[in-house]
Amino acid sequence: MSFANLGLSAELVRAVAEHGYITPTPIQTQAIPAVLAGGDLLAGAQTGTGKTAGFVLPILQLLSTRPAPHSANGRKPIRTLILAPTRELAAQIEESVRVYGKFSKQSSMVVYGGVGINPQITQLKRGVDILVATPGRLLDHHQQRTVDLSHIEILVLDEADRMLDMGFIRDIKRILALLPRRRQNLLFSATFSEEIKTLADSLLNAPAMIEVARRNSTVEITNQKVHPVDRDRKRELLAHLIATNHWHQVLVFTRTKHGANRLAEQLNKDGITALAIHGNKSQGARTRALAEFKEGGLQVLCATDIAARGIDIDHLPHVVNYDLPNVPHDYVHRIGRTGRAGASGEAISLVCVDEHAFLRDIEKLIKREIPQEVVPGFTPDPHAKAEPILQRQGRGQHHNNGAQGKPRSNSGGGRSQGRGAPTAAPSRPRHPNDATAKPQHGRPNRQPAQTHHAAPAAAPKTGTPGHPAPAPTAKRTIVYRFGGRSR
Ligand code: AMP
Repeated sequence: MSFANLGLSAELVRAVAEHGYITPTPIQTQAIPAVLAGGDLLAGAQTGTGKTAGFVLPILQLLSTRPAPHSANGRKPIRTLILAPTRELAAQIEESVRVYGKFSKQSSMVVYGGVGINPQITQLKRGVDILVATPGRLLDHHQQRTVDLSHIEILVLDEADRMLDMGFIRDIKRILALLPRRRQNLLFSATFSEEIKTLADSLLNAPAMIEVARRNSTVEITNQKVHPVDRDRKRELLAHLIATNHWHQVLVFTRTKHGANRLAEQLNKDGITALAIHGNKSQGARTRALAEFKEGGLQVLCATDIAARGIDIDHLPHVVNYDLPNVPHDYVHRIGRTGRAGASGEAISLVCVDEHAFLRDIEKLIKREIPQEVVPGFTPDPHAKAEPILQRQGRGQHHNNGAQGKPRSNSGGGRSQGRGAPTAAPSRPRHPNDATAKPQHGRPNRQPAQTHHAAPAAAPKTGTPGHPAPAPTAKRTIVYRFGGRSR
């Protein structure tokens, strides 16, 4: 199968070939014809599968072949809206639009919070075909009447499950109510909770349904290892691994923002170039750190789970779990940063006695034992007792992990002590790193939430190869084949 066989134009085929893509990934093979057919789409796919090209390429093609509408004010109307949960993901999608659309005429831009709104307003005034946005900032623009969504032909909800996890459902409903009723809807989600099913039911009209290998496949292509170590020697071990193995690009996960900062500082003192990336950093600082890391100017990027969402670096060779996540699915998200699109990668976890329960939960989820290897000189004390792990959350919130004993933080440098209460953190932070996604009382002028009932899409519905679309019915009910978890 080639990109040309999927019905894409010569310009698009040339752009992806120049970008080094030879064969379409499974999600691209299924999604591209489905989107080109003009119908709605429900896709079970996660980051790392090539899903972005799966929707961006056919959208570019559809827009270039349809006559562009004229808007009343003479400004080029926005024809496609792509919603993404995080700034990083939104920025990366828009970058992909530019890469894949290199030889196409469609223009694109991205809007997200945490940066000045005025340059975005100026750019929106010039007119744009494809707008990529995080929900909060898009609503800010709507409130200021600086964006017109009345000509949207295609809507994409990317990583819809994360958007709901991050509390965006009300914002999404508000945005849906601003769109024209006749449009094509594409929903991408890695998992299918009840909330996602409800959203899909109200949004999609007889969608084609496709699914590609589930997240656990990342687990298969990634070389995983656990290095048991004393909690106070993690930083020393990490520096040792980086130096002896000559690692030049390592993404390191810590449990807390404080931990990420502290670890980056300590690594710099060890002569290893490192920066931290987390929700407390300005968007500018995050973008700069990510760019520097991508370009290879930075050996280590220390990140929290939320900040790392959507980070997409080709062939990232090493991911290190400096702290094991207490939510087992986060482990899979984390190691999904390496070994992408078929490349193999290495995921190393530094595990101290306090984290054995987390490790068991992770191994249960991925249905395999992760090989353990003690690094010479770092044999952990066999008599060490487990201590509760401190989870210091952003706004002074703490969660209890139910462990007994003296509180301690093992995040961000072995010798540091956290400042919070002894806690356990079974739940994910609810607030996204999109600075605009604050509780709604911060948006006094917004209209109350409404439930949107999607109108039938303009074009006839079509299935995908091997996945015929369900026949349209008076009362649309989507039967979900996807397994997925609900958080
Ligand atoms: P995505 O799931 O869209 O975030 O893509 C994951 C990674 O796969 C990105 O780094 C893409 O550049 C890369 N990618 C997407 N499609 C292909 C392809 N057909 N061949 C090789 N790499 C690809």
